[in-house]
Formats: sequence, C-alpha cells, structure tokens
Amino acid sequence: MTKRKITIVGGGQSGLQLGCGLLSNGYEVEIVQNRTAEQVRTGKVLSSQCMFDQALQNERDLGLNFWEKECPTVDSINFVVPAPDGSGTKAIDWNGKLDKYAQSVDQRVKIPVWMTEFEKRGGQMTILDAGIEDLEKYAKSSDLVIVAAGKGDIAKLFERDAEKSPFDKPQRALALTYVTGMTPRPEHSAVAFNLIPTVGEYFVFPALTTTGPCEIMVLEGIPGGPMDCWKDVKTPEEHLAKSKWILDTFLPWEAERCRNIELTDDNGILAGAFAPTVRKPIGRLPSGAIVLGMADAVCLNDPITGQGSNNASKAAKAYMDAILAHGDRPYDAAFMQATFDTYWNYAQFVVGWTNALLQPPPPHVLNIMGSAQAFPALAKRIANGFNNPVDFFPWFAIPEEADAYLQKLAA
Ligand SMILES: Cc1cc2nc3c(=O)[nH]c(=O)nc-3n(C[C@H](O)[C@H](O)[C@H](O)COP(=O)(O)OP(=O)(O)OC[C@H]3O[C@@H](n4cnc5c(N)ncnc54)[C@H](O)[C@@H]3O)c2cc1C
Repeated sequence: MTKRKITIVGGGQSGLQLGCGLLSNGYEVEIVQNRTAEQVRTGKVLSSQCMFDQALQNERDLGLNFWEKECPTVDSINFVVPAPDGSGTKAIDWNGKLDKYAQSVDQRVKIPVWMTEFEKRGGQMTILDAGIEDLEKYAKSSDLVIVAAGKGDIAKLFERDAEKSPFDKPQRALALTYVTGMTPRPEHSAVAFNLIPTVGEYFVFPALTTTGPCEIMVLEGIPGGPMDCWKDVKTPEEHLAKSKWILDTFLPWEAERCRNIELTDDNGILAGAFAPTVRKPIGRLPSGAIVLGMADAVCLNDPITGQGSNNASKAAKAYMDAILAHGDRPYDAAFMQATFDTYWNYAQFVVGWTNALLQPPPPHVLNIMGSAQAFPALAKRIANGFNNPVDFFPWFAIPEEADAYLQKLAA
C-alpha cells in the first residue's frame, strides 16, 4: 500500500487523537491548528472534559493517557433535586458508583502535550486558521481531508441537518468555574449533579488543571431564568462571586462545600451559549472537492450530559477504524457517509438522551430519577449509562418501557 496523506483541520480532542493513531498505523498526517501549544496552555478554559472509561480506553490504546496516575478519579454520579418548597432540603438524592472511574484532564494541559506527541510520532503540525481556500489546497494535496474544528466557524461549511437538530437556539446559558479549596465529598468522589427544576443544572467534579488538582463547576442556566446571569459579569472575581451566589441561592449543600474556594487562575472561567446542532457529514467546496466532518464540527451537543469529549474520542476511534479498514480505495462520498453513519449509529443515542434532558422532564423520567433513590441497581445503571448512553434506550425514552423496567426492579 502506498503511504496515504490525511489532513485534519482542528487539533482538539478528536483531531489529535485520530492524528496520533493514524501516524502509529503508517499514515502521513498533517494537522492544521489555529492555536499554538503555548496559546492553548495559557488561554481560557473551553470545556470541563470529564471522560468516562470507554473514551479513556481509546486514549490508553493509543498511548495518550499521560495523566492517568496524577489526575483525580471520578468514582460515581450523585444526583440531587432540591425540594420545591424552598426549604433548602433535598427532594431526591442518590449515588451510583461507576464500574470504572472517569477523569478530566484540562484541555490546556492535554492539548499542548498531544501536539508535541503528534510531532514526535512524525506528524506535520501547521499553525493556521484554515479557511475554505486552505481546504481547497489540502483537498488537492491529500487523499482525505477531515474537518475536526469543533465549534469553529469553518464547521458551517457543513449543512445543518434539521431532522437531527430539534433546536435552533441555545438551550442553556453555560458557565465554567475552575476552583481549588472545595471540601471533598464524603466516601468517594462524584460528578455531583444537581437539577433545579425550571432554573437549570449545576454539576461539579474533581479534575487536573495547569496548577494541579482542582474542581470544575459547570453551571447550566435555562434561558431567561435566574442562572442566565453572566452578561454583566466582567471580571474573574465577579465570575466566582456569581457562581457562589447561585449555590447560596439554590443549593445550600453545595454552597457549604465552597466556603473556601478560589479560582485556579484568571483563565479558569468561561461563559457562553450555543445551539446543539447536527450537520451533514460531507462538506462540498466551491471546486466540487469534498471533505469529511468529525466530532463537534458535525455533532455538537449541549454539555448537560458531559458527553462532548467522550463523543470526540469515540468519533476519532470510529473514523480510524474506518480508514484502516478502507485500505487503498479512494475516500469518496460513499466512504465519508458510511464512516459518519457508523459513528451516528452510536451518537444518535447520545444526542437523543442529551436533548431529552434539555427539556422539562416528562413524568416517566421523573419517575426513573426518583426511583433510583430506592433502587441502588437503578442508580448504578444510570451512573454507568454516562459511559455508554446506548444503555439508556429504550427504557429512558419510552414511558411503557420505563414502567415495565421499574416494575421489574420492584418485584
Ligand atoms: C461548558 C462546556 C463544558 C463541557 N464539559 C464536557 C464534559 O464534562 N465532558 C465532555 O465529554 N465534554 C464536555 N464538553 C465538550 C467537549 O469539550 C467537546 O465536545 C470536545 O472538546 C470536542 O472535541 P473536538 O475535537 O470536536 O473539538 P475541539 O476539542 O473543540 O477542537 C477543535 C480544534 O479546532 C481548532 N480550530 C477551530 N477552527 C479552526 C480552523 N478554522 N482552522 C484550524 N483550527 C481550527 C480549535 O482551536 C480547536 O483546537 C464541554 C463543552 C463546554 C462548552
């Protein structure tokens, strides 16, 4: 087989993972990345990037798990709903242990090291904010061009798939706050997930950042509600104060853990919003040449279920398997569509589950989430569903299936 050249535009979770994997399998790979390693390392946080075992395993398989020993582990999912009477008590509270731990390595730590690793493995790293003309050039000089540019504007080259995208507006006002000094949870660590009906969600978990271990607070406010409150926040200090105000107001047990928190650094904050969007995977350039979209560029989810980096890892693995299996044949439109479809066979469940959680929960979902307090097996199953959301279907989606499953648990 002749050495095939693959160009990947976007050096984030999916682009670098795929690039390193392809290099190890004898491909010539160029990654076009619009930020230098130093800019990523000293820049703002863009994610909370909690990754579960299947996604972490993809990194281990490629020898990319450089922080496995030093990164704190996330050992469970804890789910809380505050009592609706404003009494400051909990209406629902359960904990499901993960069979295998999750971990979050700040992308400001991970991406610069992976960029170096990619070059060490023989890859060509080009620092450039690629536009359509650049894609034309890469399409001519490469056997295959993959666009893995995340939320970058260039992803708009791929047509929005209205059938797969129920929302055309952001469903949450998002914020991240990276902190130290939080009181650890008793027993074992968790993604401590709090659902505040009609207001939003707050979840928090341990992670590894540029300064060492930390906790990442993720705040998701329903638009127009009291957690949609970031527009007038100007400084890192105000951002931290606003994060604490939310906890003081709605979640006293979480506020209690935060008496002594401090920001990890002035860039350990983020506020923004975007519409969850699935796009068609084949992008057609003005010349008629085609490029293939991967991960967030074509399948962008709200972070409410913490799946984006997991998806990116799984997309990179699916695309690598497809490329290896394709041998010497041309990377035509049929190959591109089939590659995305294989990934979509998995991702459709993540998208369905994530989008469902963005809407007011129907009675059967409330019943499931409440029943997990009485049935530890259910709590464990929901927790481990974050590792493989396919397991939520059909019982999380269809009321009759939910009832049947709950009856079985009660028998
Ligand atoms: C608030 C928030 C919290 C999150 N929390 C979690 C979580 O807990 N768990 C989880 O799994 N996921 C989480 N995510 C999502 C996760 O971070 C992303 O889904 C994941 O990083 C996507 O990987 P990717 O490879 O598609 O894109 P990215 O990792 O975004 O990488 C894209 C890269 O392309 C570069 N780029 C963009 N445009 C161009 C261009 N024109 N030319 C060259 N380079 C370009 C970008 O600079 C970037 O380096 C969260 C996201 C947000 C916003």
